[in-house]
Amino acid sequence: MVSGAEGFSPIAGFQQTGLVLDIALTSRCPLHCRYCSVERMPLEELDETQWKRVVSSFARLRPVELISLEGGEPLARPDLPAILAAGLGSARWVKIVTSGVLPLRSLPDHLLLHPRFFFEVSLDGPPEVHNFLRDGSWEKAWGFLRAGLNRGIRMRFRSVLSRHNLSIYEGWLKVLDEELRAQEQKVGFSIDTIIAPEAMGNEGGGLSRLGLRYYSTQGLLPSPGEMGELFRALRGHRFHNLVLLQTEPLRGCGAARGGVISFDPGGIFSFCCEAPRGVGSIRHISPEDCLCLLDTQILSRPCKGCPYFSTKQCNGCLTGQKCGMVKYWGLKDCQTLLGSTIQNDRLVRRNRGISPAV
Ligand code: SF4
Ligand code: SF4
Repeated sequence: MVSGAEGFSPIAGFQQTGLVLDIALTSRCPLHCRYCSVERMPLEELDETQWKRVVSSFARLRPVELISLEGGEPLARPDLPAILAAGLGSARWVKIVTSGVLPLRSLPDHLLLHPRFFFEVSLDGPPEVHNFLRDGSWEKAWGFLRAGLNRGIRMRFRSVLSRHNLSIYEGWLKVLDEELRAQEQKVGFSIDTIIAPEAMGNEGGGLSRLGLRYYSTQGLLPSPGEMGELFRALRGHRFHNLVLLQTEPLRGCGAARGGVISFDPGGIFSFCCEAPRGVGSIRHISPEDCLCLLDTQILSRPCKGCPYFSTKQCNGCLTGQKCGMVKYWGLKDCQTLLGSTIQNDRLVRRNRGISPAV
């Protein structure tokens, strides 16, 4: 059993010190979102007993900071309560990443109100924008967030930014902040850019796993400079109830902090959650060997000596792609990318409206 969560709040920013297990429980989902990167391949999903064994084995070897239960839509798994309970017994924090369109009632109160559990709901903008991007799901997603807050469940949300919502995003947050003003609980949020499937290409390893679904991103990704500008504006804004949960202008998985192992529903893992290729299968490789592979890959990256890492402007990236932004913008490497967000230099300003490299 892990220790309590003293000194950390899910609204106070994620300070990753231990391992993160990122578990896609299923590729099933009732929605068809416009830029969802999850390929819907029929897979033999690991069952409840197998996932319990996986999370407890890793926890015996190393402190697990966070278990992220994802999909597809994780609430589509009828055995989610048992997997969530096992996660809470193995990790410091457990979150469920959800679209918010399936009912909460399948999960019991003692799990939902657990002090080390939180939901992360996807919200991409005001109703008309969210509905355009996420298959008409605004009403249910917003209702899910409100219902969770009203029940005292720890809730936060994540927005995926593209040309469709970038210009209205900050203004929408101000409106949302007013709407949430009466809530007792602070609501954390984070921002990501949409994934360009071509840019992530064959990242990960040599094994085929749940691939990235293809969609065109031509002209859709915000530039690094625009993300830097938005990040600084959000960080400087005094919200009443909203709290920006990241120190990075371009959020990643924090790969170089404690390491991330990302599993697909069939148990194939990689060390990058956006990689369409896998390193091995947890059905055949022991957790000890998996951790050895992870440590070797982390050591081979330059992050620990990087100035952006020591100042938490970047928490590392195992592919060096920062979720595809490096290749998409035709930049030399991740440090050039980070420099572009921070200096907001002319190169990035020129890139506005210009076709990306992929
Ligand atoms: S900029 Fe690159 S080298 Fe530096 S911390 Fe980020 S991913 Fe690592
Ligand atoms: S591309 Fe890098 S930052 Fe993004 S999920 Fe993969 S390892 Fe993490």
